Amino acid sequence: MKIKLNKPFTANSAVDEFDVRQVKKALNRLGYYMPYEKTGITGIPDREVFAALKKFQGDHGLPATGTAKPGDATVQKLGSEAGQKNDGQYIWRTVGDNKVRKSHAELEGEVRDFADKPDPGEEPGCRCWAEPVTQAQGLKQVVTSEINDAEDKWTAFHFGWHFRFGHGKPVTLPEIGYLRDVVNKAREIMFHKIETQVADEMRKIQSGQLVYTTSNSYPRLSEVHWVLGKGTIETKTEGQVKKDGDILYIKATVQYSYFDEITDPIDIRQHKLGTSSTFHPEFENYRWTEFGGTPYPVTGKWETELTGSISLSQE
Ligand SMILES: [Zn+2]
Repeated sequence: MKIKLNKPFTANSAVDEFDVRQVKKALNRLGYYMPYEKTGITGIPDREVFAALKKFQGDHGLPATGTAKPGDATVQKLGSEAGQKNDGQYIWRTVGDNKVRKSHAELEGEVRDFADKPDPGEEPGCRCWAEPVTQAQGLKQVVTSEINDAEDKWTAFHFGWHFRFGHGKPVTLPEIGYLRDVVNKAREIMFHKIETQVADEMRKIQSGQLVYTTSNSYPRLSEVHWVLGKGTIETKTEGQVKKDGDILYIKATVQYSYFDEITDPIDIRQHKLGTSSTFHPEFENYRWTEFGGTPYPVTGKWETELTGSISLSQE
């Protein structure tokens, strides 16, 4: 990496903005400088960049002045060390505001090799930086798909009406106003379980492509609406696992799909057969359901991004 300073680089003079960016980027790549996360790498000569430079000089047998001049030994050493830094891994970090270019926003949180291109901070105006990963941070999931629920949620009346008159027409969770509630309930009752299982899979494969699927029913979905409590949620986790020493990293997507077939939500058949003496209380006033109905599927999908690091040895 070539570093070419325009002006002397000292804390008590007017430094050049581009010089500051170059020095910060090189020191960041080498693990000496971490920017304030709300601003990322900027041309502002903060105190931390001079402290980082001083530390770098001390570690490389240079006079630890925390300053540099165009073309001096510090500039040359910094450029060559940063250029040779191709081993190890880092997490791509962005400021996270709406000015981050799309291609970099997509890299946020991704574990990358220092040899990968581009580098954070490399492209013009880029404020991104590298966060070295030295210890297991755990796994987390962020919902990345959109949730566009209908404004009005279906009540038991609608579930029953659709059974009686809907001719089996499938409905989706957004259409009936429940995707957000189901996702939130899933976050509460199953996200952590998935992460624990994915962690076990990561330890099995250690590196490479990970594909992991589950299929379970979650009776606690009835806390969203009692009609939904018999549904099944399938998951498919797909991503890449990398290993660095005792640490395993992952970046994956998890596709969730909910499925249930709503059969006789209000015990119509039992009622007709005389095996159930009462309708569900919410249907006492809707005797039209006595005339039967057609089962119908309810489906819903969402996606999360699963990222993080775990230690290879079980904790
Ligand atoms: Zn960027």
